[in-house]
Amino acid sequence: MNDLLHELWTFTRTLGEPERDCVIIGEGNTSARIDADTFYIKASGQQMAAIEPGGLVAVRIAPVLALLDAEPVPSMDEQKARAKAAKLDPGAPDPSIEVTFHALLLAECGVKFIAHTHPTPIVSILCSPRAEEFANRRSFPDEAVLCGPRSAFVPYADPGLPLAHAIRESVRAYMSAEGEAPRTILMQNHGLIALGQTAREALNITMMAVKAARVFTSAAALGGPVFLSDEEVRHIVRRPDEIYRRDQFARSES
Ligand SMILES: [Zn+2]
Repeated sequence: MNDLLHELWTFTRTLGEPERDCVIIGEGNTSARIDADTFYIKASGQQMAAIEPGGLVAVRIAPVLALLDAEPVPSMDEQKARAKAAKLDPGAPDPSIEVTFHALLLAECGVKFIAHTHPTPIVSILCSPRAEEFANRRSFPDEAVLCGPRSAFVPYADPGLPLAHAIRESVRAYMSAEGEAPRTILMQNHGLIALGQTAREALNITMMAVKAARVFTSAAALGGPVFLSDEEVRHIVRRPDEIYRRDQFARSES
């Protein structure tokens, strides 16, 4: 097994550990960029907690990305057939239905690892009237440093291509407003996407977002949260010592 596949495999299992409460059964998926043209993604029907390396499949980016601009919009059967044809090894299992948004984010956001999970504390907020507020505001410094000054927010969309289109629209708007890619994407009534340069970074972002969700809900029960001001958030995310700390943690071993 190559180093990248090993890293993605252990990362996927770590995210699936039951005590983290990030996913159950077949929920969630992960991916890692191999090079400019290809990436690994969790295969459909795999459980993150128990996945074996054979449950991760190598796929070409270009034919999957082409699905996003195909006219007319391909049917679900056509999407599956094209995703299947994009596999490097035709004998490998089929990629997750969310292969399109992974290809999109790896191609457009300049990141190497993606973690998509459904953590209970985050999904609870995303199923509430305060979902967009949670995405747009920050409550404490480490949340802003790890999860970004805000999250890209995606209104509810059907899984597969409609969701990938909604993510593309939200992420492009975020990038033109902020001048950089988001570190977290929050999908209404659905879950979290964490974007990292390393597997460790994507895991760190996921766990900090889970903590932020717990803090938000607890503070709401106490009449809050009292958020950091936008000025305070912008200041903390640009501090060189905070960026240094964050990048050191992204490189550290578990
Ligand atoms: Zn999901």
